[in-house]
Amino acid sequence: MGARSRISELAVNEKGESTMETVAGITGVSSIQDIYGSNVFSLKTMRNYLSEKAYTSLSKTIKDGGKLDPGIADEVADAMKTWALSKGATHYTHWFQPLTGLTAEKHDSFISPDGEGGVVLEFSGSELTQGEPDASSFPSGGLRPTFEARGYTGWDPTSPAFIKEGPKAATLCIPTYFVGWKGEALDKKTPLLRSMKALNKQIERLAKVLGIKCTQKPYATLGGEQEYFLIDRNYYNQRIDLVQTGRTLYGKEPAKHQQMADHYFGAIKDRVIAFMEDFDREMWKLGAPSKTRHNEVAPAQYEIAPIFENQNLAVDHNMLCMEVMQRVAKRHGLACLLHEKPFAGVNGSGKHNNWSVTGPDGKNWFSPGSSPHENERFLIMVAAVLKAVDEGAALLRAGVASAANDHRLGSHEAPPAIISVYLGEQLTDIIEQIEKGGARSSKAGGTLEVGVDSLPVLPRHASDRNRTSPFAFTGSKFEFRAVGSSMSLAGPNVILNTIVADAIDEICTELEKSSGQNINKAVQKVLQDIIKKHKRVIFNGDNYTEEWAKEAKKRGLPNLKTTPEALAVTKDAKVIAMFERHGVLTKTEMISRYDVYMETYNTILKYESDLAAQMAKNMIMPAVLSYQGGLAETIKAVETSNKGKVAETRKILKEVTALTETAWEQIAKLEKASPGGSAEKIKSAMEELRETIDTLEGYVPAETWPLPSYAEMLFLS
Ligand code: ADP
Ligand code: MG
Repeated sequence: MGARSRISELAVNEKGESTMETVAGITGVSSIQDIYGSNVFSLKTMRNYLSEKAYTSLSKTIKDGGKLDPGIADEVADAMKTWALSKGATHYTHWFQPLTGLTAEKHDSFISPDGEGGVVLEFSGSELTQGEPDASSFPSGGLRPTFEARGYTGWDPTSPAFIKEGPKAATLCIPTYFVGWKGEALDKKTPLLRSMKALNKQIERLAKVLGIKCTQKPYATLGGEQEYFLIDRNYYNQRIDLVQTGRTLYGKEPAKHQQMADHYFGAIKDRVIAFMEDFDREMWKLGAPSKTRHNEVAPAQYEIAPIFENQNLAVDHNMLCMEVMQRVAKRHGLACLLHEKPFAGVNGSGKHNNWSVTGPDGKNWFSPGSSPHENERFLIMVAAVLKAVDEGAALLRAGVASAANDHRLGSHEAPPAIISVYLGEQLTDIIEQIEKGGARSSKAGGTLEVGVDSLPVLPRHASDRNRTSPFAFTGSKFEFRAVGSSMSLAGPNVILNTIVADAIDEICTELEKSSGQNINKAVQKVLQDIIKKHKRVIFNGDNYTEEWAKEAKKRGLPNLKTTPEALAVTKDAKVIAMFERHGVLTKTEMISRYDVYMETYNTILKYESDLAAQMAKNMIMPAVLSYQGGLAETIKAVETSNKGKVAETRKILKEVTALTETAWEQIAKLEKASPGGSAEKIKSAMEELRETIDTLEGYVPAETWPLPSYAEMLFLS
């Protein structure tokens, strides 16, 4: 296999010298710097291609988010083209993120006939700034009836253009948003940009109330940790369920899986590290700061984490991350599985959404800080999150709802569907003291006045890290862990930005009433009120327990187990009003999204159940019947030829026969449930059948079982 030969290349030459440098090309520190961002039309690159005037104007738009000067579009386009051609590009594309949750691209070459039988290469400002893909087949939830099928893509200069390398040439990719002819959002980027703007507005307002000097535009930051599985591509190709649905619909749990947790942080196998090295290099070329790599808990499961960036950029980079992973895996004879639950019985995969805000003072506003004023700002932000998450718990759950993630949320390894906040002991203690009126510093003693005194220093990395919480404070940021591994990070962040903007909005309205008076007293009062009302959302214990589910119910926290239940929340009038108030999504856009996501959910359920029935019928049952027939013949032969003992074998035949009959009944039941049946009915029919089939896998000879086993797939050699 391809990957094998690569590994031997990575060793040493005949003189015993490392050949790593020539193979990987980036072993030394300086060579990482050479390739880093080499495929990005970054500010650094632009300097060499743009006039001073255009550069200054564009960099101001990028940094401060102001309007783009249309006068510079032609110059920027020409510069981009010149740079892209130097990178071997023949085509350009507007790269966008429709509601499929994937990325989309349609390529156009730079060629334009010169009238004499040749071509010139052109790329104009209007081609850069606006595109009109023939986009009638993207889901719009009725927003874009096919007779008005036009959708427009518009350049997002805040995410830099980049080069995608193909086997022979390259393509210039321009990150864009995608809207209908009246400007209705048809994608994931448009509401993300709007929600970032809404949050910034409230942050600037809060800065003003608190008298914080603004030296820059605030922005949300995001670091998306990405979990994934790698399996041998040969096995993948033999599993029609993996190929078509991304998960195994059948598969008996192997004797050993993750019981020992011996994979977690273990030494990384050669074949996997070869993949990771290649992956990192691809990401670095794209200017994506891939930082950490390690083995995860489940066998064959891994994780990469980037360094956090501006939220919009981080979302784009995560989309690229997923694409690059799949492509590089293929090159190594591997398949990268991004599904939330590719294998039953072992951990599923998520994406940890590390979220924070860099304020207009350039500081992280979720960092406790050392001065009283920094702490005042920090406590307001924490209170805003408590209020936002408590009021928006169901909405946050809706933001991570999908057929695939339903398999994960609520299972033993993942956060439950109940959204609560982990603050850690010390911060909870401070919050409780504020509630009672004035935090008492545990170290210094005495009563602490918010905004006047310093808080006790919080540990940068809380020692009592809680891995089970869906929404955890981790020292200087909040980590939302319920996001699914295959999802775009855009959706959850749209919700997060909007609910926090809404909470800060209310806080500011309160604080502004006492402008000119003692702001510290007003802050104290606002914090106290919020904590009283919303502390029920704080939970520092083990989120996986049955007791927590009961306790959460007592506290009135929602526990929305399935996607349809969760998505229904997005149609709530109050929720819609909030999104409209902050200019993030209109009612029509919200409803259209609900329709798209529900349809996606139902479609997945339908094709998964169809495939489950089909695989059982024409792949698995024939193997079962052969084995059953073989057993029956053996028994007959042994009995008639030498009157041997067959009681035990007969027992096996009886068991197999019973299971076989059950399986046929369950297949029929599934086939009956599938068209038009309720989601719950289809799901339980699939589960029942799976149980029988997985039991049969324990009887039928391994070499005639038509699917690679869990043990084969999960234990990569
Ligand atoms: P932990 O050990 O708590 O998981 P790490 O420092 O390893 O924390 O970070 C995990 C992820 O969180 C990384 O992607 C990191 O870049 C990101 N992160 C760190 N600080 C911030 C921040 N201020 N905003 C957003 N993400 C952050
Ligand atoms: Mg994490």
